[in-house]
Amino acid sequence: ADRTREDILREVKERNVQFIRLQFTDMLGTLKSFAITAEEMEDALDGGMGFDGSSITGFNAIEESDMIAMPDVSTFQIIPWSPEDAPTARLICDVQTPDGDPYVGDPRYVLKRALQRAEEMGFDKFYVGPELEFFYFKDDSSALEPLDRGSYFDLTTLDAATRLRRDTVFALQALGIKVEYSHHEVAISQHEIDLRFDDALTMADKVMTYKTVVKEIATQHGVYATFMPKPLQGENGSGMHTHQSLFQGSRNAFFDPDDQYFLSDTAKAFIAGQLKHARELAIIFAQNPNSYKRLVPGFEAPVYIAWSRKNRSALVRVPGFHPGQEKATRMELRCPDPSANIYLLEAALLHAGLEGIEKGYELPEPMERNLYDLSREELDKLGIESLPGDLGEAIMEAENSELLQKALGDHVYSRLLAVKRQEWDDYRVQVTPYEVEKYLPIL
Ligand code: GLU
Ligand code: MG
Ligand code: MG
Repeated sequence: ADRTREDILREVKERNVQFIRLQFTDMLGTLKSFAITAEEMEDALDGGMGFDGSSITGFNAIEESDMIAMPDVSTFQIIPWSPEDAPTARLICDVQTPDGDPYVGDPRYVLKRALQRAEEMGFDKFYVGPELEFFYFKDDSSALEPLDRGSYFDLTTLDAATRLRRDTVFALQALGIKVEYSHHEVAISQHEIDLRFDDALTMADKVMTYKTVVKEIATQHGVYATFMPKPLQGENGSGMHTHQSLFQGSRNAFFDPDDQYFLSDTAKAFIAGQLKHARELAIIFAQNPNSYKRLVPGFEAPVYIAWSRKNRSALVRVPGFHPGQEKATRMELRCPDPSANIYLLEAALLHAGLEGIEKGYELPEPMERNLYDLSREELDKLGIESLPGDLGEAIMEAENSELLQKALGDHVYSRLLAVKRQEWDDYRVQVTPYEVEKYLPIL
């Protein structure tokens, strides 16, 4: 929706909007927000609103922590569950320095820089379609009590969440977010609501809103929704498969009618870029110690760095082509999970793909076999590498990644590494019940 400044000022008056939440995202992908009153709205649109960024993860320390939240007018929405007679609205903001320059620590700016690189290379649109999976539990306690014992596509009383998903889809639509599919996923109490693809920046904003909506509607129904990648041992984890394509004008730059896979050289080099740099990007697409509990064989999550047309054990899948659907030609990256910071994720993926195009990387042959069945020797023979096995390994890869440094910029790159090293150190010193139970009786 291309609303103007005047449009939204009018809407604020007409709808009797009382509060406007100004939102932005911290380095780890947490939505941050403060509210202003309707009287402040005009000033906010003109010059932004100042705030203290010193306690925002990844932002500046106390000495230079004055920041400006500059609303992006096109993101104005009334929050559907706020009181109808005096509603609250929201605006997503760019973060700026007091001089009005884009702030290098703002993930939204990191994405904008990546999109600029794409544009300079002749691609005016980077389309993204994420499939976010999540779990419902009775509450946020470690009891992890599921709402249902349903499984993939189940629709009976088994799926107690049908009502929840329905209300969630309605709320998303009320916020201008188009939904394609919603269904029960494979694991008990696991669900998926898929958004219709959109350009990367709009989509990143939508994903931030989506996560809030899923959690908010769950709370309204007295349950808890989580995007934790692997809450239940022995069950599938939650992924955020990310469909991607590049367009030049209205032309899908990934499509070639004469190729056996209907993939252009551009698409092949882009995919090759994401495969080649996958290990370096793991810190972004799987950013928590828990993310790596999902990326193990046997749970429909990828482990091995290869591509395929059908096989869901591969890192990249190129969904089947149907004549007349050139626009739908795309790649699906299956490693990201929904705990990722969507802005940094899209930026890093785009840079990796563009690197492939710029340097002319070759795409290896597709692997149509179930990769989970192959031994390490067979994988080695085929030259197939694995994703990092844990966050520690991902950090080591990231430390040696020029691509990641370029994609994130020095500020975010060094802060992210510092935060992740700390997180990994905290995690790896834990002595778990598993270890005590296993080793105490025998050692
Ligand atoms: N839940 C699986 C994952 O962790 C994906 C299942 C699917 O193919 O949708 O990625
Ligand atoms: Mg799924
Ligand atoms: Mg998928």
